[in-house]
Parts: sequence; C-alpha cells; structure tokens
Amino acid sequence: MPAPDPAAAAQKSAIADVQDIYRELEERPLARDCIRRTTCCQFHRTGKIPQLTRGEALVAAKALRASGRKTLPTRSDGACPLLDPVTSGCLIYNARPFGCRTHFCAAAGGTYPRERVIDLIRRLEETDQHLGGDGSHPLNQAIDAALATKR
Ligand code: SF4
Repeated sequence: MPAPDPAAAAQKSAIADVQDIYRELEERPLARDCIRRTTCCQFHRTGKIPQLTRGEALVAAKALRASGRKTLPTRSDGACPLLDPVTSGCLIYNARPFGCRTHFCAAAGGTYPRERVIDLIRRLEETDQHLGGDGSHPLNQAIDAALATKR
C-alpha cells in the first residue's frame, strides 16, 4: 500500500473547504442578479482581474481538468481565458472563483460589500495559509500554478 501523500491530502481538504465557502456564499445572497452577462469576464474592458487564493485555484483547476483540459485556454483579446469563445459562457461556472461570485457588474446590482463577506474571505485566506500560499494572485497565474501541481 502506498504511503499517504500529505500534500495531496492537504489539497483535497482545501478543495472541500473552498467548496463549503462557495456554498455558504450562495446561501446568503444579497439582491444581485447575475444572468451571465459576462461583463466582468472582459478583463481588457474592466481593467480588473480576479485574484485567487491557492484553494480557489485548486478548485478551478479541478473543474478545468474535469472538462478534459490540462492547460488554461489561450485568448488573444484580453478576456478571461475561461470564457468559452464558442458558447460565450464560463467553462467552470459552478467552480468559478470567489471574486467572480461577488463582483457583480453595475447592471446586476454592483459588487458585494466586503463587510458582508469578510468572514468568508478570512476563511479563504486561512486555507491559503494552510497550503503554504502567499496570498492571492491573478487568475491566470494562480490557475496555471494549480494545474502544475500534482493531483
Ligand atoms: S472564471 Fe468564469 S466567471 Fe470568472 S471571469 Fe473567468 S469566465 Fe468569467
């Protein structure tokens, strides 16, 4: 029987923690109306890129792998690489990062007030620390790093 892999166990636990955080966020929705306009996915227009903790990146990488991809897709227009150019939908919508769940466009009601979700942000930061992370990183960089880690 192979020896337990502590790093793999820590990743599995972190993924479960982040999924719990996403579930809790969904249970306390403010008056927002994301109907997948994908306005916030147009980084070249918004000038804002989601910043992911290590646990969020692991969740996103897991979903991307489940879709049959081993690397982040490339886009030349500056939009999020996870925005499917064919369907114009998010490739990992159910596993999208915390920032994508709280940064609503103006038409959808605007960004969640930070104080309403600060406890969940702290938990994401704690999970990051448990994984040896050093804070949040831009989406591409964070997911590339997660994809490079052993599953
Ligand atoms: S991860 Fe999905 S929801 Fe978030 S910016 Fe990219 S395409 Fe949009």
